[in-house]
Amino acid sequence: MCVHWPACPSPNDPGHATACVVAAHPEQGWSLLCNGVVVFEDSGELLPDGRAVEPCPHALSAA
Ligand SMILES: [Zn+2]
Repeated sequence: MCVHWPACPSPNDPGHATACVVAAHPEQGWSLLCNGVVVFEDSGELLPDGRAVEPCPHALSAA
């Protein structure tokens, strides 16, 4: 799915959330990454295989 070079992290890679954003919907609070991962503004994630990643409670303060 990713067309970038070097390729973005796969959905199974620990750094998958650093892939490029291909569709941002800030008004709805989510973004689609080029590896198929959906990232929500509360740091929760939805992986392409259907798995959900719980939001990190420290994400907002970890600036
Ligand atoms: Zn990519």
